[in-house]
Amino acid sequence: MKFTNLMAPTLREVPAEAEVISHKLLVRAGFIRKSSAGIYTYLPLAHRVLKKIEGIIREEMDAAGGQEILMPIMQPAELWLESGRWDVYGGELMRFKDRHDRDFCLGPTHEELITDLVRGELSSWRQLPIMLYQIQDKFRDERRPRFGLMRGREFIMKDLYSFDRDAAGMDESYKAMHRAYCNVFSRCGLEYRIVEADPGAIGGNHSHEFMVLAEAGEAEIIYCSGCSYAADGEIATSKKPEAYEGPEVPPYELIETPGANTIASLAQFLHVGEDQLVKTLFYQADGQVVCILLRGDRELNEIKLKNAIGCYELAMADIPDVVAITGCQPGYLSPIGLAGKVKVYVDEEVMALGATVAGANRPGYHYGNVLPKRDFPLDVVGDFRQVAAGDVCPFCGKPLMSARGIEAGQIFKLGTKYSKALNLVYTDEKGEKQPVEMGCYGIGVSRTMAAAVEQCNDKDGIVWPVSIAPYHVVIVPTTAEGPVWDAALALYQDLMKEGVEAVLDDRDERAGVKFKDADLIGYPIRITVGKKFTESRQVEFKKRWEQEAETLALDEVKAKIKEVLS
Ligand code: ATP
Ligand code: MG
Repeated sequence: MKFTNLMAPTLREVPAEAEVISHKLLVRAGFIRKSSAGIYTYLPLAHRVLKKIEGIIREEMDAAGGQEILMPIMQPAELWLESGRWDVYGGELMRFKDRHDRDFCLGPTHEELITDLVRGELSSWRQLPIMLYQIQDKFRDERRPRFGLMRGREFIMKDLYSFDRDAAGMDESYKAMHRAYCNVFSRCGLEYRIVEADPGAIGGNHSHEFMVLAEAGEAEIIYCSGCSYAADGEIATSKKPEAYEGPEVPPYELIETPGANTIASLAQFLHVGEDQLVKTLFYQADGQVVCILLRGDRELNEIKLKNAIGCYELAMADIPDVVAITGCQPGYLSPIGLAGKVKVYVDEEVMALGATVAGANRPGYHYGNVLPKRDFPLDVVGDFRQVAAGDVCPFCGKPLMSARGIEAGQIFKLGTKYSKALNLVYTDEKGEKQPVEMGCYGIGVSRTMAAAVEQCNDKDGIVWPVSIAPYHVVIVPTTAEGPVWDAALALYQDLMKEGVEAVLDDRDERAGVKFKDADLIGYPIRITVGKKFTESRQVEFKKRWEQEAETLALDEVKAKIKEVLS
């Protein structure tokens, strides 16, 4: 490709709204342009990267037994009503009506549609297992579309679904996909970590995420410094502390705590650590107010609470509702005296506290000598805390660590959730009908491209891993005429013949401008044909991730490129 024919509109300015590096660089380097919030056009360079990522995914899915199909994006509401997700998927589902007033949605995922497809075709156990996948645009009306391609409202996903006759079969399919995913991300040249994950709205009870390690990642990865434990911060757990078994504590009593209406100010007022206090929070779960007790230094993990309650929407409770229940404004709230009025969820760390201090539901006052196991309503005791680096590993006792990651893929064991809801059954050898065991497996193709940029960049631009780079080589002639130009053109034509993906920067620009764009776009190899060529038939050969260029004889270039690309 000659650069003058390539639509790669590079920019000098960073787009104002871009917060993360991948968004900035993909716009500046002329890969993407925004159409509306969370919706982008992929320009030629991005399209080539996406096709490469898709190519790797296809090879790995096919090798693991997958068959590619293409399902409709438009899905009828009936299927979603059948699975029960029409009413619970919430605002993320893009819904619309056709001219006959029938409800449809744009697929955010395809469990319903594929289960419907397979139930129409499946009869005997002999047809199983089946693995079907597609690579297609998905639609999710994200509350906050942001970070460019990382959280879009229209994005490209590979989704594969497995169908097995029993749980052992599903486990095999899951393992095969686990391996295939490792191959995909390794072949994309990315550093990643596999973590235990929350199945969320997809469902099932067993799930892993593939996290591309990057500072800008929205996900927190908790992993152990001593063993192989690694989990998404959304579900990560730490060692459960022993419940308090110490000496008797005198009855609780009112203490005056003027102005101590936060945990920090209370800790300061009492000269104790925040971890010696109790935090009382009120949330609204599908409209119902609940109370949560945590150790003072802890944050609530909303996913854990949501899963424990089994609700769809969880948000901080409205203050008037809290006042109606407790008779008190936030700052001095307490679970004491609320038994029967509101369900109280207690983090197990609170149970380890001896004599502590909790609010008194009275402005300016707390209770001292509170013994949680004696004085609090204990409707549900469990793990509701957000785990942090330095906490103790539940498996080996070593300290946990934390890192940031971008969720590029997630795999789920669904079990019979959808097959039972949509009546997907097969007939076994005995002639009995059995529900199919399913799994589903997603990779965000467009998000993977952004994740690669997030992980592979420097101050000058993108540093594409060779396997997914839009082109392998850029040839930069320092002039657009004479023997230098002729040699550059001949080299370009020669490389094209050899199947090397090359761009010839044929613009009438200074070499410095071309170098800047080459670094920004991130071609793995840059070959400069200039003065050294006229002097001694030599060119400059530079790898994007190295600082120094090498000087090579023109004849050596091809072998050198092959070495880098292999
Ligand atoms: P997240 O937690 O980041 O919202 P998710 O868990 O809802 O993602 P899945 O349902 O597991 O996403 O979808 C499979 C893959 O699709 C994800 O691993 C991710 O790579 C990609 N993906 C999901 N949502 C988006 C989005 N809004 N924009 C781009 N890619 C996305
Ligand atoms: Mg996910």
